[in-house]
Amino acid sequence: MSGQRLAWGAAALLVGSSALAQRADAPAGTSVGDTHEGYLVEGAELPLEGPGFHFHTNRGNPAARYGTPALVGAITRAAAEVAREHPGSDLEIHDLSFRTGGPIRGHGSHRSGRDADIAYYALGADGAPMSPTRSIWFAPPGIERHAPEASAARFDARRTWRFVRALLNDRAVRVSHVFMAPHLQRLLLRAAGRDAAHLRAVVRTPRGRRVDPHADHLHVRIECTPADRRHGCRD
Ligand SMILES: [Zn+2]
Repeated sequence: MSGQRLAWGAAALLVGSSALAQRADAPAGTSVGDTHEGYLVEGAELPLEGPGFHFHTNRGNPAARYGTPALVGAITRAAAEVAREHPGSDLEIHDLSFRTGGPIRGHGSHRSGRDADIAYYALGADGAPMSPTRSIWFAPPGIERHAPEASAARFDARRTWRFVRALLNDRAVRVSHVFMAPHLQRLLLRAAGRDAAHLRAVVRTPRGRRVDPHADHLHVRIECTPADRRHGCRD
């Protein structure tokens, strides 16, 4: 990680001392560089649990619980909104970034505090909302993979859309991407109804090596804020 910092410092020196000064005085919570090569200045901490959500502790990177204040705020507000409308909802949140960002195992991005992986809301075989949620791999058209038909969980497009809608409408952030598997995108677009155009503008199929990338979680990315951009944040 210090190597990353050194690289940034050297690059800044090459383009002039003013750029270096910009980065050196970036306040806590600033996203610097891009999501694949940048870093985060003293990120905001996502609590281990809160109204309507908990952070995963059993896989991924347990220390990747940090993001820009805008991202952490928007995620917690959206999860709380879903739980207000659908009491008992408990969303499982996966990796964000490390406290000061930088390279992170299992991800090409997630380096600058503007990315988050989030499990999908799910319905049990009886059609009742599952809570807490957990990471479930949904095969087309949205049914738990490798589970007997009678007990398989289903992708909950209604609550997942409610969560994504809250992010899209949150004035503190501008969502640039929501990465999802294509068959789950279709279900979410249907649930979005009249707001489908808004969703279509940001939802993307990730270019991955896996057969069904993002069939077990969505990945949300937000744009740099104007303050981030003054310190070298790049979309
Ligand atoms: Zn991700």
